[in-house]
Amino acid sequence: MKFLEKITHCADETETVGAEIAKYVLEENESFVALYGDLGAGKTAFTRGFASVIVPDADVCSPTYTIVNEYEGETSLFHFDMYRIEDEDALDSIGFYDYFGRGIIITEWSENIPFALPERYVRVTIEKLGDDERKITAEICGK
Ligand code: ADP
Ligand code: MG
Repeated sequence: MKFLEKITHCADETETVGAEIAKYVLEENESFVALYGDLGAGKTAFTRGFASVIVPDADVCSPTYTIVNEYEGETSLFHFDMYRIEDEDALDSIGFYDYFGRGIIITEWSENIPFALPERYVRVTIEKLGDDERKITAEICGK
């Protein structure tokens, strides 16, 4: 079920959409957000806005090398970058499944982990339309 489609014209606007979806996620008790989109689409920018609602003092940077950044709060946030994850073994070795149930999980490069998605999640796709223009689509997947 698609519940949002927006065009943004700068990174700040994408952050604002991230914040809007974070409010929705809290209200609806969702716990997993899978981000899709190419390099430079704005997944990290989106996550910065998203995090500002969940853990207001979070200082979001890309977990490209660390794979996961953890932000503890009233509701904790776990920000993954799956760019270098190629199979189930790689996910097991970072203890991915131990994060379930501990807070909200948001994953960049979800294209790489189709086998690890939960039964229900929020799917967010960011598409580059131009240098600064992005189309952001959000939908609920699963039961
Ligand atoms: P990703 O995590 O998808 O690789 P980033 O969020 O790290 O992407 O980077 C997005 C880049 O694109 C930033 O340099 C940002 O300033 C730029 N940008 C330009 N327009 C937008 C927009 N509408 N939304 C998000 N980022 C944008
Ligand atoms: Mg990124």
